[in-house]
Amino acid sequence: MKIFVVNAGSSSLKYQLIDMETESVLAKGLCERIGVSGAITHKAADGREYKAETAMPTHTEAFEAVVYAMTKSDAKVIDSFDEISAIGHRIVQGGSIFSKSCLINPTVLDQIDELGALAPLHNPAHVLAIKACIKTFGEKIPQVAVFDTSFHQTMEPKVYMFALPYEYYEKYGVRKYGAHGTSHHFVSDRVAVLEGKDKKDIKIIVCHIGNGASITAVKDGVCCDTSMGFTPLDGFMMGTRTGTLDPSALTFIAEKENLTAAQINDICNKKSGMLGVSGISNDNRDVCAAADAGNERAKLAVDMQRYQILKFVGSYVAAMNGVDAIAFTAGIGENDPELREYVCKNLGYLGVKIDNEKNHVRGQEIKISTEDSKVNVYVIPTNEELAIARDTLALIS
Ligand code: AMP
Repeated sequence: MKIFVVNAGSSSLKYQLIDMETESVLAKGLCERIGVSGAITHKAADGREYKAETAMPTHTEAFEAVVYAMTKSDAKVIDSFDEISAIGHRIVQGGSIFSKSCLINPTVLDQIDELGALAPLHNPAHVLAIKACIKTFGEKIPQVAVFDTSFHQTMEPKVYMFALPYEYYEKYGVRKYGAHGTSHHFVSDRVAVLEGKDKKDIKIIVCHIGNGASITAVKDGVCCDTSMGFTPLDGFMMGTRTGTLDPSALTFIAEKENLTAAQINDICNKKSGMLGVSGISNDNRDVCAAADAGNERAKLAVDMQRYQILKFVGSYVAAMNGVDAIAFTAGIGENDPELREYVCKNLGYLGVKIDNEKNHVRGQEIKISTEDSKVNVYVIPTNEELAIARDTLALIS
């Protein structure tokens, strides 16, 4: 059985074709510059590659290019899309409506569209992609929505409410929703397997640290708190995003520089974080290299991010009254031993001890804590596409 996983943005579309018998990737690719010009890069698992520049005025033409790449190009992996059992879509915002993945029908599609008010950069693009899929593949291939927010729907009101006048929650649904839920769910499930325990019996902190980054506390088998908030801007400092800060800093800057709300939003999302502080890059490797070479602002950016991560981990130990396992995942979490060492050393008061040699492994699943550590620490490569494919398969079975 083959599942096609789609992660659509407004001008891009990432996809994977996954064979569910072996849970292996048969092909993956990316369509870019949708609505502007159009280009596809498609890779088969055996290394064959197909690249083309082809007009993609809408997502429909992008899917047509994917069909060609998959079924006819030199890197083809199937004869026809009839071989595909279902399509799983990553959906950024499920609001308070979706606490789990679901089959897409016209009502669900309308709801995803309406939730665009909470995720204007993402949900409208998902709707375009789903409609384009229906146009390209017809109604015969079932489509499933897997929400980045649904894993966080178990948070209690005292966790997800903001201390704003209550009317804004009632009128507009302003509250914490979280993000990266598919990754946090996947990684916390994997921790439970590696611990040989039921997830209900362990307290886990998952640190998903990539260009976008969030930390989640998982207790009694469900998410009890997460660092991202109303949007994926909240939490700690990221590649280009601020994370939490005093909102009056923003109203102050807006008044001084005569900026609109949209401009402030743009600064906070795209020009801040590691990039804004270091002035060098949003990429962790570039900033760390500059810090090592003596650049003071790069060093400050690295120190700030690590410190903020440590504070979130510490706060979730408090929120759960303890922690049994900590997992690091995503680009930085999987590949940056120094960040992991910093966090773990500063949790020494909890009896966290890591093995320096094991910690220097990059990008592979490994327990990096010592045998006498009171908390087990893992590096677990995340696999959001596989998690989406698994949910999709479960819903059509
Ligand atoms: P993601 O958003 O999960 O793809 O993660 C992207 C981030 O991971 C970027 O900031 C990269 O610099 C960082 N990253 C990827 N590989 C490494 C590495 N080998 N060492 C340090 N950081 C890395």
